[in-house]
Amino acid sequence: MASMIESAWTYLITNFNDFQLACLGSFFLHESVFFLSGLPFILLERAGWLSKYKIQTKNNSPAAQERRITRLLLYHFCVNLPLMMASYPVFKLMGMRSTLPLPSWKVISTQVLFYFILEDFVFYWGHRILHTKWLYKHVHSVHHEYATPFGLTSEYVHPAEILFLGFATIVGPAITGPHLITLWLWMVLRVLETVEAHCGYHFPWSLSNFLPLYGGADFHDYHHRLLYTKSGNYSSTFVYMDWLFGTDKGYRRLKVLKGDACEAEGKEM
Ligand SMILES: [Zn+2]
Ligand SMILES: [Zn+2]
Repeated sequence: MASMIESAWTYLITNFNDFQLACLGSFFLHESVFFLSGLPFILLERAGWLSKYKIQTKNNSPAAQERRITRLLLYHFCVNLPLMMASYPVFKLMGMRSTLPLPSWKVISTQVLFYFILEDFVFYWGHRILHTKWLYKHVHSVHHEYATPFGLTSEYVHPAEILFLGFATIVGPAITGPHLITLWLWMVLRVLETVEAHCGYHFPWSLSNFLPLYGGADFHDYHHRLLYTKSGNYSSTFVYMDWLFGTDKGYRRLKVLKGDACEAEGKEM
């Protein structure tokens, strides 16, 4: 497996230069992972399959979904791609490399875990600021246009928010200057994580059932369902920031109520 990855990597670095890989390669990888992971949830919703695992009963109209996907593509090309190009010199300056040998799994996993923790922390505070009156009205309400999120809405945000919260995503790699393969792995996992958080389904196999600190779809769906001043659940990945700062009280209360209701149902049977 390691040698397969290494030979694929050798092919990449002999055929493309650093700039092409870090900017165009990252952009292509991001688009592929984002659409391949997000589109199946739209198909699932339209076909009505696995509907018993759907968090909300409401569906979005196909026309509304398609309009937003077109806008999303426009933002990706006009904001994300230039942003990747602009941050390339910073990454280079901080020591990012794409050469062989590839870093060990220990280094890769430690760095990626650090990025998740740091991103969650920065995102939490940035997101709380976005929920203040002026910023919500003029910027963040775009992301909240859908009270019923679907996978691809995860990145449907105001261009200013791409810059604002994009900082949370790139600050970890920017200060550690990782190998490009680590940056790509981080990007892929972060995209899968945010698409899952917005997918609208909570399955028995969802990660949040197995990782107690992981928020997932149920946690973030609550954030979209409620009025912006009352929602809480501001974190992107984990649940402990909201717990520490008491912004998950409403969500926890609902969980207890739901638990009681299930118990009562069980007793009646
Ligand atoms: Zn929000
Ligand atoms: Zn969201």
